[in-house]
Amino acid sequence: SRELLFQAQKMEAVGQLTGGLAHDFNNLLTGISGSLELLKARVSQGRLDDLDRYINSAQGAANRAAALTHRLLAFARRQTLDPKPTRPNKLAADMVDMVQRTVGPGIQLETVLAPGLWLTLCDPNQLENAILNLCINARDAMPDGGRLTIETSNIRLEGAAARQHDLEPGEYVAVAVADTGTGMPPDVAERAFDPFFTTKPTGQGTGLGLSMIYGFAKQSGGQVRIRSEVGRGTAVTIFLPRHLGEADEATPPPRRVSLPRA
Ligand code: ADP
Repeated sequence: SRELLFQAQKMEAVGQLTGGLAHDFNNLLTGISGSLELLKARVSQGRLDDLDRYINSAQGAANRAAALTHRLLAFARRQTLDPKPTRPNKLAADMVDMVQRTVGPGIQLETVLAPGLWLTLCDPNQLENAILNLCINARDAMPDGGRLTIETSNIRLEGAAARQHDLEPGEYVAVAVADTGTGMPPDVAERAFDPFFTTKPTGQGTGLGLSMIYGFAKQSGGQVRIRSEVGRGTAVTIFLPRHLGEADEATPPPRRVSLPRA
């Protein structure tokens, strides 16, 4: 659990790094926008001399923004997935103490772990990061305290239900993080997965948490869904496909039975 805490600190550093990038990116966009605005004014006034200044300035800023994006993508690619048969129950149970320390004593943490939870094939570190991220979002949505629930379940989605969740019909392991916080107005819920979209004060939010979770879920063959009601709270559910096959170390290996020879 010391390692988990380290992981949390590392994520905070990552958040600061990406937050810094987002800020720089935004400044560059503001510059491009400003240059285009001036260019437009000059063109509409018919003053067409010396327009290169504005064009070059916008182009320079666009190139620097592209370089920033490449850095960010290179960073994201380094977080390669290392999928393993994983049963999220153990992972969630092992995180409880660290999550409680992270969200603070004002928030009541509850875990509802389905017995007989199926396996899924995913990178356990990324799943852990995703859950921690969701818990931090839940904490931020409950400044006056509240209840935070981590719930796992086996889910069989068919026909309309699968389509509604934008998933193939089939069997999924679901990990949901629910809070009794502020909830999201529809316009926020709509943009919540957008990279760099944040409603948090500068320096506190990077707007990358949910977009990274979305990327992880999609790469693992799954999906993320948000249910939120203003004033009631939010539940974010990660659906991951069921993995059939050899069990992980949590399940004892099959017993060898030696039959007496006939
Ligand atoms: P960040 O947390 O850095 O803002 P995220 O991508 O994790 O980035 O979240 C984007 C936005 O979605 C948040 O700024 C917030 O407005 C909203 N949001 C996310 N989780 C919750 C939640 N549990 N309750 C209310 N709003 C949330």
